[in-house]
Amino acid sequence: MSIQTIGVIGAGQMGNGIAHVFAQSGFSVIMQDISAEFAAKGVATIDKNLQRGVDKGKMTAEEKAAVLGRIQTTTNLEDLANCDIVVEAATERWEVKKQLFETLDRVCKPGAILASNTSSISITKLAAVTKRPEAFIGMHFMNPVPVMQLIEVIRGLATSDATYATVMELSAKLGKTPIACNDFPGFVSNRVLLPMINEAIYALYEGVAEVEAIDGIMKLGMNHPMGPLTLADFIGLDTCLFILNVLHEGLGDPKYRPCPLLKKLVDAGWYGKKNGRGFYDYRGEKPVAAVKIGG
Ligand code: NAD
Repeated sequence: MSIQTIGVIGAGQMGNGIAHVFAQSGFSVIMQDISAEFAAKGVATIDKNLQRGVDKGKMTAEEKAAVLGRIQTTTNLEDLANCDIVVEAATERWEVKKQLFETLDRVCKPGAILASNTSSISITKLAAVTKRPEAFIGMHFMNPVPVMQLIEVIRGLATSDATYATVMELSAKLGKTPIACNDFPGFVSNRVLLPMINEAIYALYEGVAEVEAIDGIMKLGMNHPMGPLTLADFIGLDTCLFILNVLHEGLGDPKYRPCPLLKKLVDAGWYGKKNGRGFYDYRGEKPVAAVKIGG
């Protein structure tokens, strides 16, 4: 199937990154969010990230303008009717995604592929709310999307070979490396990553070490580019909690139980870097630890 026009749902940190890479690879993109203000904020982020490329001499100002010119925004899902594929990157909540896919299934043209960038929700279950489960697939981009090489491609129970082949080919056209896996809670990436992050939060909660020490030990000791608490802030603590709940419920093993300290921060509205505070406080010149040992 020939893909030309891409719909992206959500203009948040993942959605604007996904719109960015598709537009940069020459595709026409329609990015939808619930308010024009959120959509405009997403475009402003893409503009800022592209400008970084211009400043480094990796692209010209004309190329940047051409990329931005390929991105339209809307608040109306009906505007995605003619998209060849829609990649959903809205908030990680079942009710939000269920409602979105019921509507997208109704408005999108027959044959269009519906993909979700969900971090953990079952692709098979999301596909089942549509009348086109064979054209449904998981396309799990990594954060930050313009930088990260991997797309974890998740096949639902009913995903057809044709849908799978189209999405693998499309991912390669973005200059990314798609790697496929089957549909089980957390897929591969988050099933392995989130227990490590949760354990780092338990280490803070139980008084093993302070925030910077936990991150410093993991960063230097394991040669990770950032510590697990910084990474949790980067992913979004609300998203981390949601994924752990999916792993806990979906796999039924107490080893996935979310740390009470993570719940506390989410209850406080400290979602991490995206809204200024999580394990670190990002509101000053440089991040400083915002949570003490024990929480
Ligand atoms: P975010 O909070 O930055 O952005 C979510 C966006 O979705 C917001 O702009 C919000 O207004 C919009 N939205 C909410 N409900 C909507 C609706 N009904 N219709 C349209 N837009 C709606 O979150 P994010 O970090 O970009 O995560 C988005 C998705 O990507 C989630 O499913 C998340 O699990 C997944 N994901 C996140 C990461 C990460 O590191 N943050 C990595 C991979 C995948």
